[in-house]
Amino acid sequence: KSTTVTNVDGSVNNTEEDGEEDGVELAANSLLNKLIRQSLVESSHRVEVLQKDPSSPLYSVKTFEELRLKEELLKGIYAMGFNRPSKIQEMALPMMLAHPPQNLIAQSQSGTGKTAAFVLAMLSRVNALELFPQCLCLAPTYELALQTGRVVERMGKFCVDVQVMYAIRGNRIPRGTHVTKQIIIGTPGTVLDWCFKQKLIDLTKIRVFVLDEADVMIDTQGFSDQSIRIQRALPSECQMLLFSATFEDSVWQFAERIIPDPNIIKLRKEELTLNNIRQYYVLCRNRRDKYQALCNIYGGITIGQAIIFCQTRQNAKWLTVEMMQDGHQVSLLSGELTVDQRASVIQRFRDGKEKVLVTTNVCARGIDVKQVTIVVNFDLPVNPAEEPDYETYLHRIGRTGRFGRKGLAFNMIEVDKLPLLMKIQDHFNSSIKQLNPEDMDEIE
Ligand code: ADP
Repeated sequence: KSTTVTNVDGSVNNTEEDGEEDGVELAANSLLNKLIRQSLVESSHRVEVLQKDPSSPLYSVKTFEELRLKEELLKGIYAMGFNRPSKIQEMALPMMLAHPPQNLIAQSQSGTGKTAAFVLAMLSRVNALELFPQCLCLAPTYELALQTGRVVERMGKFCVDVQVMYAIRGNRIPRGTHVTKQIIIGTPGTVLDWCFKQKLIDLTKIRVFVLDEADVMIDTQGFSDQSIRIQRALPSECQMLLFSATFEDSVWQFAERIIPDPNIIKLRKEELTLNNIRQYYVLCRNRRDKYQALCNIYGGITIGQAIIFCQTRQNAKWLTVEMMQDGHQVSLLSGELTVDQRASVIQRFRDGKEKVLVTTNVCARGIDVKQVTIVVNFDLPVNPAEEPDYETYLHRIGRTGRFGRKGLAFNMIEVDKLPLLMKIQDHFNSSIKQLNPEDMDEIE
């Protein structure tokens, strides 16, 4: 066996020279989540509500019928397969559909039913017989605007005369046109341009204004100010709604600037824990050795599907090629892929077409693949200071307590990295057992 440290691709063994990949942009991640999301994300937390007027009664609904929606809208909801409102929708929908309209700031992690809620609100307030813009929804990117538009089209399938228009770059409308479609979805820059410069859209009759993905929005240069300029031009009786998956201070500050007199709804995120995960480590000398250990684990236990994390793109590529050559069905999820490509890799993996997914940190955050019971850290997550990256470790391996299944985690550790692993063990106060890869009896 060769003992050289140089690999076929010219890289040096066990390096971190290309570092942890840059976090994919928030917007790309958000889109990816939408593309692969098939059902609601569950939550064991209670919805927290802060009413603008604490003395007014607080309604929640357990069924869509209680909302007294238009027949065609209710049909659309059932056609989408929704049986009852999600946790956040139970509280948010009565507020959003109230008369007189109320403003709302809502925060809950992606997948909890925010988009469906505001699409429902827009569709219920549209008058199909009136041919002018009545609802305006701002989204951070072209692709996210399209995704929201698709939901409008699906839910509004039976609302025959309701039409959507996309105010996104590349969608050119002849000057002098008066937009007659009732629902406008677009990015702040283009909406601003269409409203003020080209005067295609009349904002004075907008009834519902939605600002979606506020956290992504404020992360994009110029979007906060543009959104505020648009908001200022809306009529005073317009209903204003803001949604965000996360709520740092900056999002709050923005939300409070742009949404007057809001009700506030929050659904806390499910915490990740390591409680249901059995964690092991294997001591290795080098990358080749790690690979051998991985193969032994594969030979030793029955593995359903596994995700293997590498710290660098190079390592991920190398490992994928090795495993393929050994006859495994592997796919590589890397930051070099477009969002659509990433979505299709994840989809294939979910469908069980590949048993192993090799990836770097990128793309792996926040994407839950429920059937995965085994996670391998081919490289330990470290930060640029060569300290353990606890958060990433937890994101890779942790599960949400109540909904997560039991799992197994393996860490491939070079001897010199052992102290880092011990720090991780102490940090989480959970034991990581050493494993002799030639003896798998311990596990099963
Ligand atoms: P968010 O905007 O918070 O990310 P979505 O509205 O996109 O959440 O909903 C996430 C997923 O759950 C989507 O696939 C959506 O179709 C589905 N969904 C939304 N509301 C319901 C519901 N009440 N019942 C069943 N599925 C729902």
